[in-house]
Amino acid sequence: MTASAAGSWPAGQVVVLGAHILDVLGRPVEAIPPGQGSTRLQEIRATAAGTAAGTGVDLAKLGARVLAIGALGDDLLADLLVAAVARHGVDTAGLVRKSGVQTSATILPIRPNGERPALHVPGATARLELTDIDLEPVRRCRALLVGAPDALGAMVGDGLDEVVAAARSAGALIVVDVLHPGHPRDLERIGSLLAAADWFLPNSDQLLALTGREDLSAAIGDVLALGVGGVAVTLGAGGCLVAGPGGREPVHLPAIAVDVVDTTGCGDGFNAGMMTGLLLGAGPVDAAWLGVACGSLVATGLGSDAGIEDIEQVLGFLRRAQPAVAARLAAPDAPAAEVAPRGEGAAGMAETPAPVASAAPVTEADERPDERPRRADRLLRERARAVIPGGMYGHQAAGPLPPEYPQFMRGGRGARIWDVDGNEYVDLMCSYGPVILGHRHPAVEEAAAAQAALGDCQNGPGPVMVELAELLVQTVQHADWAMLAKNGTDATTMCCTIARAQTGRRRILVARGAYHGAAPWCTPRPAGTTPQDRANLGHYTFNDLASAQAAAEAAGDDLAAIVVSPFKHDAGYDQELVDPEFARGLRRLCDATGAALILDDVRCGFRLHRGSSWEPVGVAPDLSAWSKAIANGHPLAAVLGSDAFREGARSIFVTGSFWFAAVPMAAAIATIRALAAERAVEAMDRAGTALRDGILAQASSWGLAVNYTGPPAMPYLTFDGDTDYALGSLFAARALRGGAYLHPRHNWFVSAAMTGDDLALALAATDQAFAAVRKQIGQ
Ligand code: PMP
Repeated sequence: MTASAAGSWPAGQVVVLGAHILDVLGRPVEAIPPGQGSTRLQEIRATAAGTAAGTGVDLAKLGARVLAIGALGDDLLADLLVAAVARHGVDTAGLVRKSGVQTSATILPIRPNGERPALHVPGATARLELTDIDLEPVRRCRALLVGAPDALGAMVGDGLDEVVAAARSAGALIVVDVLHPGHPRDLERIGSLLAAADWFLPNSDQLLALTGREDLSAAIGDVLALGVGGVAVTLGAGGCLVAGPGGREPVHLPAIAVDVVDTTGCGDGFNAGMMTGLLLGAGPVDAAWLGVACGSLVATGLGSDAGIEDIEQVLGFLRRAQPAVAARLAAPDAPAAEVAPRGEGAAGMAETPAPVASAAPVTEADERPDERPRRADRLLRERARAVIPGGMYGHQAAGPLPPEYPQFMRGGRGARIWDVDGNEYVDLMCSYGPVILGHRHPAVEEAAAAQAALGDCQNGPGPVMVELAELLVQTVQHADWAMLAKNGTDATTMCCTIARAQTGRRRILVARGAYHGAAPWCTPRPAGTTPQDRANLGHYTFNDLASAQAAAEAAGDDLAAIVVSPFKHDAGYDQELVDPEFARGLRRLCDATGAALILDDVRCGFRLHRGSSWEPVGVAPDLSAWSKAIANGHPLAAVLGSDAFREGARSIFVTGSFWFAAVPMAAAIATIRALAAERAVEAMDRAGTALRDGILAQASSWGLAVNYTGPPAMPYLTFDGDTDYALGSLFAARALRGGAYLHPRHNWFVSAAMTGDDLALALAATDQAFAAVRKQIGQ
């Protein structure tokens, strides 16, 4: 096992429950000899097989601690079977012996081409009862495989539901596979089990027989509709199909070519690889690649325990076919993913993103109607129109967006989000910036929950306020002190107030078109404001030092501050990085006049640098405003300042009912620590660069002239000459349909949670979107 993969193996046992079958295999068998005839074979083996035992042995070889649960007969076959699984380190404490029934067993005469007709006695598997099972280890397990519920007799229904509930109580990954092709009534019997499972891993014959369908996509749709989180269907020599939640087209992974000896146990190998991948924190497609690698290796020898040695050997094998996937699976930094709770898919994994080769290339615009569910959103919009002015307001109002955009969201995890109708998207807006480590980041949510258990909004702040202020001062070079508030507007407004209090002057310079918040002095929509609210504002042009000098001169000795954003990110315009000479010029101007240089880091803060966004430029502001990302989505803002402005900060009166709430402060501490621990800025830059490279390559292959501007982690895309955003809106709408949530008139945000799978899905969606734009413009 590689040090990295071994180190990443999550603590806790994997429980395999269900079919434990003794296989006796012989090869090559051209034909059964007639009469009493006999044929000499090359090889006869006995192995532990069956969806539970076969997968359990492979899981153990891949590094898992495995507990087997199942029923055996009280016979020699059972002795052999127990010895066979124990040889691989599987804990056999959960295997019970039943008298009066034989151990499940199969005789397999393997044909020269690897095919395997089976002569099977179902035996004891169906005799397992709930009372045979010690639920204690199940309650503590990391994953539960229910192998062969179709062969489990009386356990199916309440019994299995109870076992699954026990595993689920520990947050375990729940995986189901079946033993036989079966019939639609079998699907009914295991419906509640599937509804509680994260993944269903049948082969194509089983899935078609269970659903009564002739078409795999329809069959996958049927089982997803039962509520299972995802389906991966093995296709024998054809590889597999992986379909997550959210109704997108399944991703097809081809098999990896090997010299086939015997295909017995390939499905079990796939299950073990897929489960291992998911438990190690990989996305579903990467996990399925590990499954494909294991399944292919199992085919290289006789019996279901053949081919796989350990995870290092499997990753080495996969590396030859899919080097990027193998590298991600072996990535030393990839933390194990939490298994996503029911209905939210498996996501939330941090790995080095790179496009997944298997995302099918798009060759033309997808003209199928958008059939995603929209009802819940429609109903909420109707209700909102009656009780919320305009139905919605502010920057998150979906009204100005293409009509496909949902207004209401249900939740998110990692880089995936779900709208209120359950449609899934890769999130390229990150709640307009606040989500930087990914939705529901475990360390941040744990810190927030721990503080919430103590208290949040109290008569005074918690100790976390001082701890956070210290951490901010340590993290941001120009800061000698910190004040905390709720929103970006609080922070930018406070910066101006502090500058005025410190200097005793009135005038503030801002860049034309820049956004600094929604207070009367800075809101972009003047309705309800008075000219007096802005009477003390002057304007300059971003990156034009002469214009700032002229505005400063016009302010004379009344200049209190110059406010500037780290780069020009005005909504609806191509972005412009800062010219370092302009930044240095503003610093000189403030030094010469005694005005405060205020950096509005509300939008960029911690996405470009773990410190002030102008540290890489080498320019220190006097005051800086922060909000969006500092607590990974928890409501918090900060003003950071130098000692020269400490007295001004002390003198003003600012406060708010919720400004001292402790939970967001605890979340911010955890966020800032995780940013360092996970090298999140580098991860966002890598993901953003891969996104940019992919999108630019797509635009060029579609012959479309685009402007892709801004830093990789905060990009923005426009089409040449698209002054009314018609093409941008079409692009956004089609990307959304394909499962990428981005924006036609606002910069996008990349989070550190983007995985290779997320990126591949986002790029598949943008490719579709470019196809639609190409079609709109004409060839
Ligand atoms: N400044 C900048 C640069 C911003 O992007 C924003 C928010 N988009 C603000 C200030 C205001 O922040 P908030 O919406 O949290 O008040």
